[in-house]
Amino acid sequence: MQYRRCGKSGIQLPAVSLGLWHNFGGTDVFENGRAILRTAFDNGITHFDLANNYGPPPGSAEGLFGRILQTDFKPYRDEMIISTKAGYYMWEGPYGEWGSKKYLVSSLDQSLQRLQLDYVDIFYHHRPDPNTPLEETMRALDLIVRQGKALYVGISNYQAAEARKAIDILQQMGTPCLIHQPKYSMLERWIENGLLDVLEEKGVGCIPFSPLAQGLLTDRYLHGIPADSRAALGHFLKANDITEQRLLQLTRLNAIAESRGQKLAHMALAWILKDPNITSVLIGASKVSQLQDSLKCLDNIKFSPEELEQINTILAE
Ligand code: NDP
Repeated sequence: MQYRRCGKSGIQLPAVSLGLWHNFGGTDVFENGRAILRTAFDNGITHFDLANNYGPPPGSAEGLFGRILQTDFKPYRDEMIISTKAGYYMWEGPYGEWGSKKYLVSSLDQSLQRLQLDYVDIFYHHRPDPNTPLEETMRALDLIVRQGKALYVGISNYQAAEARKAIDILQQMGTPCLIHQPKYSMLERWIENGLLDVLEEKGVGCIPFSPLAQGLLTDRYLHGIPADSRAALGHFLKANDITEQRLLQLTRLNAIAESRGQKLAHMALAWILKDPNITSVLIGASKVSQLQDSLKCLDNIKFSPEELEQINTILAE
């Protein structure tokens, strides 16, 4: 594993981190999730990313992770960076989502119980809240750090201008923003229009989520939709996201990956990691073999100008 410094902080994160959004819920096979987590840690993945609502049912991914921490990882707690978040809907009534201090503090208390931990390493505000003053949300993050319930804080899904404001407020309070978690992949490049510049200027790390576009940027869908795939289940990735045009694009990207001696998944992750301002790619995996495969991206994260041009041409189509 390679480790990269997170912005201008003291923390280094593995170039590849693992998220538990899918495949680690109460409806998933426990031993499969456990095997993926063990393989990840054995391969130097020290960072595991959760949120209050990961499951299904919501909360069950934290419950599973807490259980495995007790049985398998207890001696290694200090070798791990564990993150969780609050922002999306979690419980009924006006205090169960968004960005109030009431919601963030109670949600983290619930997460710590499920995780069976005294503190998490990173606590994120999961999405911006248009109706709560940003100062209140950031003050809640500052409080949580001062209470010792999180060592660092981050933001997720914030656009460039609102990220800048949030980072400045946290800075003024003496609790620097460690990291931003945006959606970013070859197929979704919005962070290149301002956000990456803000993060570099402010010395904040960046950990893109869904870097494989939920599996589109792999060989998973090149020859149809496998029955056990995310697109077949159709919750967040839908079968009709895989249009003829998209498939053609993926096939052409796959040919470039092959010419580099890589699979499409390796190239898609390497393409993100080529930027030194990216701290880590936050991947998912439904099988041990997928995780092992994705780690091979680290064998080559250099691109020639010609390769980048070819890729840009395909992505512009
Ligand atoms: P990815 O883009 O990495 O997609 C993961 C999926 O891609 C897997 O479940 C699998 O699909 C497929 N896959 C993975 N590796 C391979 C491989 N080597 N070969 C073929 N197929 C492969 O990321 P996710 O969408 O899972 O997101 C990762 C993490 O990001 C989440 O767990 C979460 O922690 C975070 N996240 C954060 C959000 C936020 O708002 N902050 C929102 C969403 C995610 P299949 O299941 O079909 O086998």
